[in-house]
Amino acid sequence: TPPSNDCDVSTIIDKVAMALKVKADAKNMDIRVTTNLENTHTIGEEKELIQVFQNLIENAIKYGHQDSTVDVKIDLAKNPPAALARYRHSRIMSVSVCDQSDGIAREHLPRLTERFYRVDTARSRAVGGTGLGLAIVKHLVQRHRGTMTIESEVGKGSVFTVYLPARTGDNVHKLHRA
Ligand code: ATP
Ligand code: MG
Repeated sequence: TPPSNDCDVSTIIDKVAMALKVKADAKNMDIRVTTNLENTHTIGEEKELIQVFQNLIENAIKYGHQDSTVDVKIDLAKNPPAALARYRHSRIMSVSVCDQSDGIAREHLPRLTERFYRVDTARSRAVGGTGLGLAIVKHLVQRHRGTMTIESEVGKGSVFTVYLPARTGDNVHKLHRA
C-alpha cells in the first residue's frame, strides 16, 4: 500500500533547496521555487519525497550550467499524463524541476530511468555518479501513485515533472480508497 501521511510539497522542496545550497553556490547557481497554490499537500512519506526532489534538483545542479538557475514550479496539472487517468476526478499536482544545461538527446530519454544508465558525455564523466538516482525517483514516485515525465531540448535544458495526486479536502477520501 502507498505511504499515507500528510506531506507539504512546498516544505519538502524548501528543505531540499536548503540542503543543496552549498552545491548550488559552488557553481554560482540559484534554486528558485515558485507556486501560486495555497495548498501544496499530498499524501505520502516525507522522507521518500525528499529523496525524489533531492535527486532531481541535485541532477539539475550537476548537469546545469555554471551561473544558471534551477527553477522548481509547483502547480496543478491541467493535462495530467495518461498514466494518471484513473485519478482524473482528483486534483493532480505537478512539480517541475527545470534546468539550463546542454540538455539530453532525444534517443536517451526513454532509458534515463533505467538503473545504471548514464549518458556518456564529457560532462557526465566529469561529474560522476552511479546512474541510480532517476531509477529511485521513478520507483518512489510510482509508490506515491504518481508519474514522471522528462522533456529536454539540446542546448537549452531539461524539465523533469513529477505528478502527484493533490491532498485537497474532497480528494482525501478518494485517495484513501484508491
Ligand atoms: P547518481 O546515482 O549519483 O544520481 P547519475 O546522476 O549519473 O548518478 P541519474 O540521476 O539516474 O544518475 O541520471 C542518469 C543519467 O541521466 C545521468 O548520468 C545523466 O547522463 C542524465 N541526466 C540526469 N539528469 C539530468 C539533467 N538534469 N540534465 C542532463 N542530464 C541528466
Ligand atoms: Mg543523479
